[in-house]
Amino acid sequence: MRIPDQNLWTGELLDLPLFFDWDPIVEDIRLSYSDPTDDDWDHGLLWVRHGLDRAGKFRWKAINTPRTRVMMREHLCMVCSRSCQRPDGRYWWLFVNDPDIAPDGTSITNLPPTCGACIPESLATCPRLAERSRVASVAGTSPYAATVDLYEPGPGDSLPVPAVKVCHEVNVLLDKGSEWLRYALGKQPWLMLHDLRDEPLVLAEQQEAQP
Ligand SMILES: [Zn+2]
Repeated sequence: MRIPDQNLWTGELLDLPLFFDWDPIVEDIRLSYSDPTDDDWDHGLLWVRHGLDRAGKFRWKAINTPRTRVMMREHLCMVCSRSCQRPDGRYWWLFVNDPDIAPDGTSITNLPPTCGACIPESLATCPRLAERSRVASVAGTSPYAATVDLYEPGPGDSLPVPAVKVCHEVNVLLDKGSEWLRYALGKQPWLMLHDLRDEPLVLAEQQEAQP
């Protein structure tokens, strides 16, 4: 089975210290790296930085956060990184279970899409998908939330001060003006899915029909 591009490799883990420092944009303290770059920030949130060289060994249950952010923003396949857009402009999406539901009834997910070419192979080779899966398409997406770790300022009289982790993997909404975002390190984005529709397994059936 192909190793999905979304997966993290051990050599991509970076042990970067986190600090709280004054940020003139928000006019308050916020979580940061010692050498933040523009790509570390999105939706007012600092995100986990990983390497991108796929060095070391892959880890099935861990995701590379920067690659995942691009996949979800640009609708690229979690397996092969190709576009998931179909000729009709919609995007293929493959779910292990049903997507989660936001309080307003809209479907939300923390899974990137899977392209039409990779869906049959994923269904045939992934044990989790063999038990239960749902093939669908969506018209579009919008940023919704993020799974984050929360930090608070450690002891110290002058900025920057070291950050101390106080909460592991909670979900926060990407609301502009949310105070939580300044204290959070983003690990996995959640998207709101627009016009989710189930799709018949045409691709898989065609493959099975071939001699
Ligand atoms: Zn693909």
